[in-house]
Amino acid sequence: MNIYGIVIFIALLVDYALHTVSETLNVRALDRHPPDTMASLYGSEALDRARRYIRAVTTQSTLERTVVLLVLLAFWFAGGFEWLDVLVRQWFTSELARGLVYIGLLIFGYILLSMPFDVYGTFVTETRFGFNRTTWQTFLSDRVKGLLITATIGGALLSGILLLFIHAGNIAWILCWLVVVVFSLVTQWLGPALLLPLFNRFEPMREGDLKESIMQYARSVRFPLQNVYVVDGSRRSSKANAYFTGLGRQRRIALFDTLIDRHSIDEIVSVLAHEVGHFRLRHITKGLVLGTVHAGVAFFLLDFFLGQPGLYQAFYLSQSSVYTGLVAFGLLYTPVETGLSIGANLISRRHEYEADRFAVNTAPQPGSLPTALKTLHVSNLTHPNPHWFHVFLNYSHPPLARRLEAIDEQLKLRHANA
Ligand SMILES: [Zn+2]
Repeated sequence: MNIYGIVIFIALLVDYALHTVSETLNVRALDRHPPDTMASLYGSEALDRARRYIRAVTTQSTLERTVVLLVLLAFWFAGGFEWLDVLVRQWFTSELARGLVYIGLLIFGYILLSMPFDVYGTFVTETRFGFNRTTWQTFLSDRVKGLLITATIGGALLSGILLLFIHAGNIAWILCWLVVVVFSLVTQWLGPALLLPLFNRFEPMREGDLKESIMQYARSVRFPLQNVYVVDGSRRSSKANAYFTGLGRQRRIALFDTLIDRHSIDEIVSVLAHEVGHFRLRHITKGLVLGTVHAGVAFFLLDFFLGQPGLYQAFYLSQSSVYTGLVAFGLLYTPVETGLSIGANLISRRHEYEADRFAVNTAPQPGSLPTALKTLHVSNLTHPNPHWFHVFLNYSHPPLARRLEAIDEQLKLRHANA
Protein backbone atom coordinates (compact mmCIF):
# COMPACT_ATOMS: atom_id res chain seq x y z
CA MET A 1 0.00 0.00 0.00
CA ASN A 2 1.38 3.43 -0.92
CA ILE A 3 1.05 6.75 0.89
CA TYR A 4 -2.37 7.50 -0.68
CA GLY A 5 -3.67 4.14 0.48
CA ILE A 6 -2.37 4.68 4.01
CA VAL A 7 -3.85 8.18 4.24
CA ILE A 8 -7.26 7.03 2.96
CA PHE A 9 -7.29 3.95 5.21
CA ILE A 10 -6.47 5.97 8.33
CA ALA A 11 -8.95 8.70 7.36
CA LEU A 12 -11.76 6.16 6.99
CA LEU A 13 -10.95 4.66 10.40
CA VAL A 14 -10.73 8.05 12.11
CA ASP A 15 -14.01 9.11 10.55
CA TYR A 16 -15.63 5.90 11.74
CA ALA A 17 -14.17 6.28 15.24
CA LEU A 18 -15.33 9.90 15.57
CA HIS A 19 -18.92 8.98 14.78
CA THR A 20 -18.91 5.87 16.94
CA VAL A 21 -17.48 7.74 19.93
CA SER A 22 -20.01 10.54 19.54
CA GLU A 23 -22.90 8.06 19.33
CA THR A 24 -21.67 6.15 22.37
CA LEU A 25 -21.36 9.34 24.41
CA ASN A 26 -24.78 10.43 23.25
CA VAL A 27 -26.42 7.16 24.33
CA ARG A 28 -24.62 7.34 27.69
CA ALA A 29 -25.95 10.87 28.19
CA LEU A 30 -29.43 9.28 28.21
CA ASP A 31 -28.65 7.75 31.62
CA ARG A 32 -28.02 11.15 33.15
CA HIS A 33 -30.95 13.08 34.53
CA PRO A 34 -31.91 15.74 31.97
CA PRO A 35 -32.22 19.40 33.00
CA ASP A 36 -35.40 19.92 35.05
CA THR A 37 -37.09 21.90 32.27
CA MET A 38 -36.62 18.96 29.89
CA ALA A 39 -37.65 16.34 32.45
CA SER A 40 -40.91 18.10 33.26
CA LEU A 41 -41.53 18.80 29.58
CA TYR A 42 -41.30 15.15 28.57
CA GLY A 43 -42.84 13.60 31.67
CA SER A 44 -41.54 10.23 32.82
CA GLU A 45 -43.37 8.18 30.22
CA ALA A 46 -42.29 10.18 27.14
CA LEU A 47 -38.79 10.43 28.59
CA ASP A 48 -38.62 6.67 28.83
CA ARG A 49 -39.97 6.26 25.31
CA ALA A 50 -37.47 8.82 23.94
CA ARG A 51 -34.62 6.94 25.63
CA ARG A 52 -35.64 3.61 24.16
CA TYR A 53 -36.19 5.17 20.73
CA ILE A 54 -32.77 6.86 20.64
CA ARG A 55 -31.04 3.66 21.80
CA ALA A 56 -32.77 1.70 19.03
CA VAL A 57 -31.98 4.25 16.32
CA THR A 58 -28.35 4.61 17.43
CA THR A 59 -27.70 0.87 17.57
CA GLN A 60 -29.01 0.59 14.06
CA SER A 61 -26.94 3.45 12.63
CA THR A 62 -23.76 2.18 14.32
CA LEU A 63 -24.37 -1.28 12.90
CA GLU A 64 -25.00 0.11 9.43
CA ARG A 65 -21.84 2.23 9.45
CA THR A 66 -19.82 -0.75 10.64
CA VAL A 67 -21.14 -3.05 7.90
CA VAL A 68 -20.62 -0.43 5.19
CA LEU A 69 -17.04 0.23 6.31
CA LEU A 70 -16.17 -3.49 6.53
CA VAL A 71 -17.62 -4.24 3.09
CA LEU A 72 -15.80 -1.23 1.60
CA LEU A 73 -12.47 -2.30 3.10
CA ALA A 74 -12.98 -5.93 2.02
CA PHE A 75 -13.90 -4.82 -1.53
CA TRP A 76 -10.87 -2.53 -1.66
CA PHE A 77 -8.27 -5.00 -0.32
CA ALA A 78 -9.65 -7.89 -2.36
CA GLY A 79 -8.97 -5.80 -5.48
CA GLY A 80 -12.66 -5.16 -6.17
CA PHE A 81 -12.11 -1.79 -7.81
CA GLU A 82 -9.70 -3.31 -10.36
CA TRP A 83 -11.93 -6.37 -10.91
CA LEU A 84 -14.93 -4.17 -11.75
CA ASP A 85 -12.78 -1.99 -14.01
CA VAL A 86 -11.59 -5.04 -15.99
CA LEU A 87 -15.24 -6.06 -16.44
CA VAL A 88 -16.51 -2.72 -17.71
CA ARG A 89 -13.50 -2.43 -20.02
CA GLN A 90 -14.54 -5.72 -21.60
CA TRP A 91 -18.16 -4.62 -21.94
CA PHE A 92 -17.71 -1.14 -23.40
CA THR A 93 -15.22 0.72 -25.55
CA SER A 94 -16.26 4.29 -24.77
CA GLU A 95 -14.88 5.76 -21.58
CA LEU A 96 -18.18 7.53 -20.91
CA ALA A 97 -20.19 4.28 -20.97
CA ARG A 98 -17.56 2.55 -18.82
CA GLY A 99 -17.67 5.39 -16.32
CA LEU A 100 -21.46 5.49 -16.06
CA VAL A 101 -21.72 1.73 -15.56
CA TYR A 102 -18.75 1.54 -13.17
CA ILE A 103 -20.03 4.27 -10.87
CA GLY A 104 -23.66 3.20 -11.34
CA LEU A 105 -22.87 -0.36 -10.20
CA LEU A 106 -20.93 0.87 -7.15
CA ILE A 107 -23.85 3.07 -6.12
CA PHE A 108 -26.28 0.23 -6.74
CA GLY A 109 -24.17 -2.05 -4.54
CA TYR A 110 -24.24 0.53 -1.79
CA ILE A 111 -28.03 0.84 -2.05
CA LEU A 112 -28.44 -2.95 -1.84
CA LEU A 113 -26.19 -3.01 1.23
CA SER A 114 -28.14 -0.32 3.06
CA MET A 115 -31.56 -1.59 1.99
CA PRO A 116 -32.02 -4.05 4.91
CA PHE A 117 -31.28 -1.24 7.37
CA ASP A 118 -33.71 1.02 5.60
CA VAL A 119 -36.43 -1.66 5.75
CA TYR A 120 -35.70 -2.52 9.38
CA GLY A 121 -35.68 1.15 10.41
CA THR A 122 -39.01 1.88 8.73
CA PHE A 123 -40.98 -1.27 9.44
CA VAL A 124 -39.53 -2.32 12.79
CA THR A 125 -38.11 0.64 14.73
CA GLU A 126 -40.39 3.43 13.47
CA THR A 127 -43.39 1.10 13.66
CA ARG A 128 -42.57 0.04 17.22
CA PHE A 129 -42.60 3.66 18.35
CA GLY A 130 -45.76 4.48 16.43
CA PHE A 131 -44.20 6.78 13.81
CA ASN A 132 -44.42 4.66 10.71
CA ARG A 133 -47.45 4.93 8.49
CA THR A 134 -45.80 3.76 5.28
CA THR A 135 -47.19 0.72 3.54
CA TRP A 136 -44.97 -1.72 1.65
CA GLN A 137 -46.41 -0.36 -1.57
CA THR A 138 -45.54 3.26 -0.77
CA PHE A 139 -42.11 2.22 0.50
CA LEU A 140 -41.28 0.28 -2.66
CA SER A 141 -42.65 2.88 -5.06
CA ASP A 142 -40.69 5.59 -3.18
CA ARG A 143 -37.47 3.66 -3.61
CA VAL A 144 -38.08 2.87 -7.28
CA LYS A 145 -38.98 6.49 -8.07
CA GLY A 146 -35.97 7.73 -6.12
CA LEU A 147 -33.70 5.36 -8.02
CA LEU A 148 -35.10 6.40 -11.42
CA ILE A 149 -34.75 10.10 -10.60
CA THR A 150 -31.20 9.63 -9.31
CA ALA A 151 -30.30 7.60 -12.38
CA THR A 152 -31.73 10.19 -14.78
CA ILE A 153 -30.58 13.42 -13.16
CA GLY A 154 -27.42 12.06 -11.55
CA GLY A 155 -26.57 10.19 -14.75
CA ALA A 156 -26.87 13.35 -16.84
CA LEU A 157 -24.71 15.33 -14.43
CA LEU A 158 -22.13 12.55 -14.17
CA SER A 159 -22.00 12.28 -17.99
CA GLY A 160 -21.24 16.00 -18.18
CA ILE A 161 -18.44 15.76 -15.62
CA LEU A 162 -16.89 12.66 -17.21
CA LEU A 163 -17.05 14.14 -20.74
CA LEU A 164 -15.48 17.40 -19.62
CA PHE A 165 -12.63 15.68 -17.81
CA ILE A 166 -12.06 13.35 -20.77
CA HIS A 167 -12.07 16.09 -23.45
CA ALA A 168 -11.65 19.59 -22.01
CA GLY A 169 -8.08 19.35 -20.72
CA ASN A 170 -6.80 22.03 -18.36
CA ILE A 171 -10.03 23.97 -18.05
CA ALA A 172 -12.20 20.89 -17.36
CA TRP A 173 -12.47 21.62 -13.65
CA ILE A 174 -13.64 25.20 -14.24
CA LEU A 175 -16.27 24.06 -16.76
CA CYS A 176 -17.43 21.31 -14.37
CA TRP A 177 -17.71 23.88 -11.63
CA LEU A 178 -19.90 26.06 -13.85
CA VAL A 179 -22.07 23.11 -14.86
CA VAL A 180 -22.61 22.05 -11.25
CA VAL A 181 -23.46 25.57 -10.07
CA VAL A 182 -25.99 26.12 -12.87
CA PHE A 183 -27.37 22.65 -12.28
CA SER A 184 -27.87 23.22 -8.54
CA LEU A 185 -29.57 26.58 -9.15
CA VAL A 186 -31.96 25.00 -11.64
CA THR A 187 -32.80 22.10 -9.30
CA GLN A 188 -33.40 24.48 -6.40
CA TRP A 189 -35.59 26.60 -8.62
CA LEU A 190 -37.63 23.97 -10.44
CA GLY A 191 -36.98 20.80 -8.47
CA PRO A 192 -39.60 21.31 -5.77
CA ALA A 193 -42.37 22.01 -8.26
CA LEU A 194 -41.40 19.11 -10.52
CA LEU A 195 -40.00 16.43 -8.23
CA LEU A 196 -41.68 16.68 -4.83
CA PRO A 197 -45.18 16.09 -6.24
CA LEU A 198 -43.95 12.67 -7.39
CA PHE A 199 -43.71 11.65 -3.76
CA ASN A 200 -46.37 13.65 -1.96
CA ARG A 201 -49.68 15.23 -2.69
CA PHE A 202 -49.50 19.02 -2.40
CA GLU A 203 -52.87 20.62 -2.03
CA PRO A 204 -53.43 24.37 -1.86
CA MET A 205 -54.59 25.19 1.64
CA ARG A 206 -58.33 25.74 1.93
CA GLU A 207 -59.58 29.22 2.77
CA GLY A 208 -60.15 29.69 6.48
CA ASP A 209 -58.72 31.07 9.71
CA LEU A 210 -55.37 29.32 9.35
CA LYS A 211 -54.74 30.49 5.80
CA GLU A 212 -55.95 34.00 6.67
CA SER A 213 -53.55 34.19 9.65
CA ILE A 214 -50.65 32.95 7.52
CA MET A 215 -51.35 35.47 4.75
CA GLN A 216 -51.81 38.25 7.27
CA TYR A 217 -48.44 37.45 8.86
CA ALA A 218 -46.76 37.33 5.43
CA ARG A 219 -48.17 40.75 4.58
CA SER A 220 -47.07 42.18 7.94
CA VAL A 221 -43.43 41.33 7.18
CA ARG A 222 -43.82 42.14 3.46
CA PHE A 223 -43.05 38.60 2.45
CA PRO A 224 -44.46 37.79 -0.99
CA LEU A 225 -46.31 34.53 -0.57
CA GLN A 226 -48.67 33.19 -3.20
CA ASN A 227 -48.81 29.55 -2.34
CA VAL A 228 -49.49 27.74 0.88
CA TYR A 229 -49.64 23.98 0.46
CA VAL A 230 -50.66 21.12 2.69
CA VAL A 231 -48.53 17.99 2.23
CA ASP A 232 -49.84 14.55 3.04
CA GLY A 233 -46.87 13.74 5.29
CA SER A 234 -49.16 11.45 7.30
CA ARG A 235 -48.97 8.91 4.47
CA ARG A 236 -45.51 7.96 5.63
CA SER A 237 -44.89 9.14 9.16
CA SER A 238 -46.64 10.75 12.08
CA LYS A 239 -43.65 13.09 12.53
CA ALA A 240 -44.52 16.71 11.79
CA ASN A 241 -42.63 19.26 9.74
CA ALA A 242 -42.87 22.44 7.69
CA TYR A 243 -40.58 23.74 4.99
CA PHE A 244 -39.99 26.29 2.31
CA THR A 245 -38.63 25.19 -1.01
CA GLY A 246 -37.83 26.70 -4.35
CA LEU A 247 -36.48 30.02 -5.48
CA GLY A 248 -38.23 33.09 -6.86
CA ARG A 249 -41.71 32.47 -8.15
CA GLN A 250 -41.44 28.76 -7.54
CA ARG A 251 -41.11 29.40 -3.83
CA ARG A 252 -43.67 27.51 -1.80
CA ILE A 253 -44.39 26.90 1.83
CA ALA A 254 -45.48 23.39 2.63
CA LEU A 255 -47.03 22.43 5.94
CA PHE A 256 -47.37 18.77 6.87
CA ASP A 257 -50.93 17.74 7.60
CA THR A 258 -49.54 16.23 10.80
CA LEU A 259 -48.34 19.69 11.87
CA ILE A 260 -51.74 21.25 11.22
CA ASP A 261 -53.51 18.51 13.17
CA ARG A 262 -51.42 18.93 16.28
CA HIS A 263 -50.77 22.67 16.59
CA SER A 264 -52.80 25.81 17.18
CA ILE A 265 -52.98 28.55 14.55
CA ASP A 266 -50.65 30.78 16.60
CA GLU A 267 -48.10 27.99 16.87
CA ILE A 268 -48.18 27.30 13.14
CA VAL A 269 -47.76 30.99 12.34
CA SER A 270 -44.76 31.22 14.67
CA VAL A 271 -43.15 28.16 13.02
CA LEU A 272 -43.80 29.83 9.68
CA ALA A 273 -42.25 33.07 11.00
CA HIS A 274 -39.10 31.10 11.80
CA GLU A 275 -38.99 29.79 8.22
CA VAL A 276 -39.57 33.30 6.82
CA GLY A 277 -36.65 34.37 9.03
CA HIS A 278 -34.37 32.00 7.12
CA PHE A 279 -35.34 33.74 3.89
CA ARG A 280 -35.18 37.28 5.22
CA LEU A 281 -31.76 36.76 6.77
CA ARG A 282 -30.53 35.33 3.46
CA HIS A 283 -29.58 31.98 4.97
CA ILE A 284 -30.54 30.19 1.76
CA THR A 285 -28.45 32.51 -0.40
CA LYS A 286 -25.51 32.15 1.99
CA GLY A 287 -25.84 28.38 1.73
CA LEU A 288 -25.76 28.59 -2.07
CA VAL A 289 -22.66 30.79 -2.02
CA LEU A 290 -20.83 28.44 0.36
CA GLY A 291 -21.88 25.46 -1.76
CA THR A 292 -20.50 27.19 -4.85
CA VAL A 293 -17.12 27.89 -3.24
CA HIS A 294 -17.00 24.31 -1.94
CA ALA A 295 -17.70 22.85 -5.40
CA GLY A 296 -14.94 24.98 -6.93
CA VAL A 297 -12.35 23.82 -4.40
CA ALA A 298 -13.43 20.20 -4.77
CA PHE A 299 -13.14 20.26 -8.59
CA PHE A 300 -9.77 21.98 -8.42
CA LEU A 301 -8.49 19.26 -6.07
CA LEU A 302 -10.09 16.54 -8.20
CA ASP A 303 -8.28 17.90 -11.25
CA PHE A 304 -4.97 17.75 -9.39
CA PHE A 305 -5.40 14.23 -7.97
CA LEU A 306 -6.67 12.71 -11.25
CA GLY A 307 -3.12 13.23 -12.52
CA GLN A 308 -1.48 11.37 -9.62
CA PRO A 309 -0.63 7.73 -10.52
CA GLY A 310 -0.30 6.92 -6.79
CA LEU A 311 -4.03 7.41 -6.28
CA TYR A 312 -4.85 4.62 -8.75
CA GLN A 313 -2.15 2.32 -7.40
CA ALA A 314 -3.61 2.69 -3.92
CA PHE A 315 -6.74 0.91 -5.18
CA TYR A 316 -4.75 -1.71 -7.13
CA LEU A 317 -5.95 -0.23 -10.43
CA SER A 318 -3.70 -1.21 -13.35
CA GLN A 319 -4.98 1.58 -15.64
CA SER A 320 -5.97 5.11 -14.82
CA SER A 321 -9.24 6.61 -16.02
CA VAL A 322 -11.42 9.57 -15.13
CA TYR A 323 -14.16 7.44 -13.54
CA THR A 324 -11.91 5.34 -11.30
CA GLY A 325 -10.07 8.53 -10.35
CA LEU A 326 -13.37 10.10 -9.44
CA VAL A 327 -14.23 7.20 -7.10
CA ALA A 328 -10.76 7.13 -5.54
CA PHE A 329 -10.82 10.88 -5.05
CA GLY A 330 -14.25 10.59 -3.43
CA LEU A 331 -12.75 8.30 -0.79
CA LEU A 332 -9.68 10.49 -0.32
CA TYR A 333 -12.04 13.41 0.20
CA THR A 334 -13.97 11.74 3.10
CA PRO A 335 -12.13 13.47 5.97
CA VAL A 336 -12.40 16.84 4.20
CA GLU A 337 -16.16 16.23 3.89
CA THR A 338 -16.41 15.46 7.61
CA GLY A 339 -14.56 18.65 8.48
CA LEU A 340 -16.72 20.69 6.13
CA SER A 341 -19.96 19.22 7.46
CA ILE A 342 -18.90 20.13 11.02
CA GLY A 343 -18.40 23.70 9.78
CA ALA A 344 -21.71 23.67 7.91
CA ASN A 345 -23.54 22.43 11.02
CA LEU A 346 -21.93 25.16 13.08
CA ILE A 347 -23.21 27.81 10.67
CA SER A 348 -26.61 26.14 10.45
CA ARG A 349 -27.03 26.15 14.25
CA ARG A 350 -26.22 29.85 14.32
CA HIS A 351 -28.80 30.43 11.59
CA GLU A 352 -31.42 28.62 13.67
CA TYR A 353 -30.88 31.01 16.59
CA GLU A 354 -31.16 33.95 14.18
CA ALA A 355 -34.39 32.63 12.63
CA ASP A 356 -35.85 32.07 16.12
CA ARG A 357 -34.98 35.66 17.01
CA PHE A 358 -36.67 36.85 13.82
CA ALA A 359 -39.80 34.85 14.68
CA VAL A 360 -39.93 36.21 18.22
CA ASN A 361 -39.64 39.77 16.92
CA THR A 362 -42.21 39.47 14.14
CA ALA A 363 -44.82 36.81 15.03
CA PRO A 364 -48.10 38.18 16.42
CA GLN A 365 -47.99 35.66 19.31
CA PRO A 366 -44.27 34.96 19.76
CA GLY A 367 -44.91 32.99 22.94
CA SER A 368 -46.32 30.25 20.71
CA LEU A 369 -42.92 29.44 19.24
CA PRO A 370 -41.53 27.70 22.34
CA THR A 371 -44.84 25.87 22.79
CA ALA A 372 -44.70 24.64 19.20
CA LEU A 373 -41.05 23.56 19.51
CA LYS A 374 -41.75 21.66 22.72
CA THR A 375 -44.62 19.71 21.16
CA LEU A 376 -42.55 18.98 18.05
CA HIS A 377 -39.56 17.69 20.03
CA VAL A 378 -41.49 15.63 22.54
CA SER A 379 -43.75 14.02 19.92
CA ASN A 380 -40.75 13.31 17.65
CA LEU A 381 -38.92 11.78 20.69
CA THR A 382 -35.73 13.81 20.24
CA HIS A 383 -32.89 13.42 22.73
CA PRO A 384 -33.68 15.46 25.89
CA ASN A 385 -30.01 16.16 26.71
CA PRO A 386 -27.71 15.27 23.79
CA HIS A 387 -23.98 15.04 24.43
CA TRP A 388 -22.12 18.19 23.31
CA PHE A 389 -19.71 16.21 21.12
CA HIS A 390 -22.59 14.59 19.26
CA VAL A 391 -24.18 18.02 18.81
CA PHE A 392 -20.86 19.43 17.56
CA LEU A 393 -20.51 16.66 14.99
CA ASN A 394 -24.05 16.10 13.77
CA TYR A 395 -26.64 18.65 14.85
CA SER A 396 -27.86 21.12 12.26
CA HIS A 397 -30.21 22.56 14.93
CA PRO A 398 -29.28 23.57 18.49
CA PRO A 399 -30.56 21.23 21.25
CA LEU A 400 -34.05 22.17 22.42
CA ALA A 401 -32.98 23.30 25.91
CA ARG A 402 -30.49 25.82 24.50
CA ARG A 403 -32.97 27.05 21.92
CA LEU A 404 -35.68 27.61 24.53
CA GLU A 405 -33.24 29.57 26.72
CA ALA A 406 -32.30 31.84 23.80
CA ILE A 407 -35.96 32.36 22.83
CA ASP A 408 -36.83 33.15 26.43
CA GLU A 409 -34.18 35.84 26.57
CA GLN A 410 -35.38 37.32 23.30
CA LEU A 411 -38.99 37.33 24.53
CA LYS A 412 -37.92 39.29 27.62
CA LEU A 413 -36.09 41.77 25.40
CA ARG A 414 -39.17 42.20 23.19
CA HIS A 415 -41.35 42.81 26.23
CA ALA A 416 -38.87 45.30 27.64
CA ASN A 417 -38.85 47.21 24.36
CA ALA A 418 -42.61 47.13 23.88
ZN1 LIG B 1 -34.84 26.63 10.97
